[in-house]
Amino acid sequence: MAGAEILSVKGLYALNSRGHPTIKVVVATRSGAKGYGLAPSGASRGEREAVELRDGGRKWLGRGVSRVLAILENEVAPRLVGVDVTRQRYVDGLLISIDGTPNKSRIGGNLTTATSIAVARAASSHLGLEPFQYIGGVERRLLPTPLLNIINGGVHAGNKLSIQEFMIIPVGADSFLDAMRISVEVYGTLKEILKEKYGKQAINVGDEGGFAPPLEYTRDALDLLVEAITGAGYAPGADVALGIDAAASQFYDQNSQSYSIDGKQLTAPELLEYYSALADEYPLVYIEDPFWENDWESFREITRKLGSRLLIVGDDLYTTNVRYLRKGLDLHATNAVLVKINQVGTLSETIDFVHEAKWNGLRAIVSHRSGDTEDPFIADLSVALGTGLIKTGAPARGERTAKYNRLIEIESMIDSPAYAGARPFPSKPKG
Ligand code: PEP
Ligand code: MG
Repeated sequence: MAGAEILSVKGLYALNSRGHPTIKVVVATRSGAKGYGLAPSGASRGEREAVELRDGGRKWLGRGVSRVLAILENEVAPRLVGVDVTRQRYVDGLLISIDGTPNKSRIGGNLTTATSIAVARAASSHLGLEPFQYIGGVERRLLPTPLLNIINGGVHAGNKLSIQEFMIIPVGADSFLDAMRISVEVYGTLKEILKEKYGKQAINVGDEGGFAPPLEYTRDALDLLVEAITGAGYAPGADVALGIDAAASQFYDQNSQSYSIDGKQLTAPELLEYYSALADEYPLVYIEDPFWENDWESFREITRKLGSRLLIVGDDLYTTNVRYLRKGLDLHATNAVLVKINQVGTLSETIDFVHEAKWNGLRAIVSHRSGDTEDPFIADLSVALGTGLIKTGAPARGERTAKYNRLIEIESMIDSPAYAGARPFPSKPKG
């Protein structure tokens, strides 16, 4: 189609949900199409992630992105101008080669992420397609089951919970919209329960919009979720299942080689026993990063033990990078992967990662970051790649609802949409 050449690539300062600066990139084509992309930012970052480049110094408390914007303007934009905007793989390859490092540390994973997304959006707009149609093709109709983090802990909240995320998963819903209705009802019921039990300081929210009550013990948080599900009139397990993201690198101590959780210091085998007990007691169908990111052996053990019943998910373990996924596949380390574009830094590498996982029989969960923006791109990506799963926080806070609202919109655009429901999970959750 005529006019597909990139006419301009512009970078701007934007703010993320933590009030930290980030980079927004706007790509325009000769045909008049435009697309934008915003880089999100993690708090519990894996050590193998693409590097997020920031200025340091005093301005913006050291988090400025002026250096990144200068690189975009002087080094990257001139190489992209004139390139056919639909050549995503070529563009992403160019970003990788301009950077020249294995982890985007020279030009910044934040720059490459925002640029890669902006190019994909501009291409969809140029072709008159929605991003999910452009990336996924016409046959895409699967809406993902959302994993909603409604109690926040770990580095995402100011409480003592070691586990970072306590999620509800509306597996029994009939549609994506129905999944949101159920989730909103459970979220609202939890709010009332928390207020009643702990007073109104317990309904303050954490980074991902979930409540951050003054709890310390994992079981207390899980009990509250079960109570909220029941209180809202649903069956724990059959209607609404549970998931956790331990983000265990954050509570692992390398010196003592132990995990600090629930007031105890546990070895890896003890922690595995603990997760097993939780899986027996609660309708758990999902455990993410149960061990720290270099304990491949314990991942393999938990997958061997619980993988037929639960999704065991690698986030910090793989950092959306095929290189580390291959190691995980050799070891049978997990049966699922988390997918975050900015962990690897380009859309093409993210797509390759998802395909590699799926070809090897692993589930993939498209995910937000704890410091996110109003960019709903990952909603489109989850439909485009047909992952059947998305993790994007509580049904509250604009940067989270932007993704849910986009999925509601996508569901309304598709002729015969299907909702993934319980299908992505290995077995029926325990009621
Ligand atoms: C996560 O660990 O899955 C997560 C979304 O948190 P962060 O963005 O802080 O890595
Ligand atoms: Mg995680």
